[in-house]
Amino acid sequence: MIDDLLEPLIAFRRDIHQHPELGFCEHRTAGRIAEQLRTLGLEVHEGVGRTGIVAVLRNGTSGRSIGLRADMDALPIHEQTNLPYASRTDGTFHGCGHDGHVAMLLGAAQHLVRSRNFDGTVHFFFQPAEEGQGGAREMVKEGLFDRFPCERVFGLHNWPDLPAGTIATRPGPIMGAADKFEIALEGRGGHAAIPQDTPDAILASAALVSQFNSIVARRIPAAKSAVLSVTQIHGGHTHNVIPAVVKIVGTVRTFDPVVQDVIEDAIRKITAGVALAHDLTAAVDYDRYYPATINDAEAAQEALTAAATVGHALLAPEPAFTSEDFAFMLQACKGAYIWLGQGRPEGSVPLHNPHYDFNDDVLGLGVRLHVALVEQHLARAS
Ligand SMILES: [Zn+2]
Ligand SMILES: [Zn+2]
Repeated sequence: MIDDLLEPLIAFRRDIHQHPELGFCEHRTAGRIAEQLRTLGLEVHEGVGRTGIVAVLRNGTSGRSIGLRADMDALPIHEQTNLPYASRTDGTFHGCGHDGHVAMLLGAAQHLVRSRNFDGTVHFFFQPAEEGQGGAREMVKEGLFDRFPCERVFGLHNWPDLPAGTIATRPGPIMGAADKFEIALEGRGGHAAIPQDTPDAILASAALVSQFNSIVARRIPAAKSAVLSVTQIHGGHTHNVIPAVVKIVGTVRTFDPVVQDVIEDAIRKITAGVALAHDLTAAVDYDRYYPATINDAEAAQEALTAAATVGHALLAPEPAFTSEDFAFMLQACKGAYIWLGQGRPEGSVPLHNPHYDFNDDVLGLGVRLHVALVEQHLARAS
């Protein structure tokens, strides 16, 4: 019943792939989606969370409701796939498979409009700016769940680490909280041959990096988990000057707000201590930009039950340390984030790699999973 939808859906997916747009700039993408949804006769709301779209499909008489979410944005990466439908926008690329998410959710809408094997309301959320800019947060802030109430919300992500055909999720944490820290160590700058007169921000930055790498090992209980990575150091411009300023940038990933507090506090204290020891001043900017993605236990079980009707359902043994702004939707509504395996037998390219491409072989499975979630949660009274 779904197979006849696939050929045009794959063509649609590849068209979106060829015309990628960055967060909050998804004008063409959103326009094409809205046009398709209107053709289906759905009630379509544009401009929800800037470039986001909500479509509403009602059937029957029950007051029950469900939300399904797909993200629409691409990444600032130069594509290197050499595919015939490769990006036509230099430096912008669907390297996270959101083109596939859009196509799968549209396919679910197409199928549900004609099958109508449910009783209640389905909300289709096409969200902007997942890649770091908080498009989901924007939609929630604009009253998404007040305007379009949902008993459950589900978000699907293509997952190259799992084989095609496998669908995985878990109760509780599934994706990490993402924080960014930026530190500026400031001295005076001076001659490299007279270090006794110049506080050395380069030496202090080395101490900082080494101390930071002890935080998780020494301050976080072994049974908890966290990642801290220093990813940038900027300082100096020539061999005979001790620079006045060195900047250190990095990220912290956690699942537990208590662990997050301990790490932020340690970063601030170590920075203050190292700066004092080296006669420097320090400024710390610590930004908690995405919270952890925490699945509701019942919703995760619902997802696994629905998954088992269409593919191989797997209870994921552990969460991933990458982050996801679907977290903001799960803070506002019970639901679950689900991984749709898309690994290829010849080996998989990781997400955000310039050679990545959504695997069209799982497009039908993604449509079926969306449909199964709806038909299960909004089952007609027998
Ligand atoms: Zn991504
Ligand atoms: Zn993604």
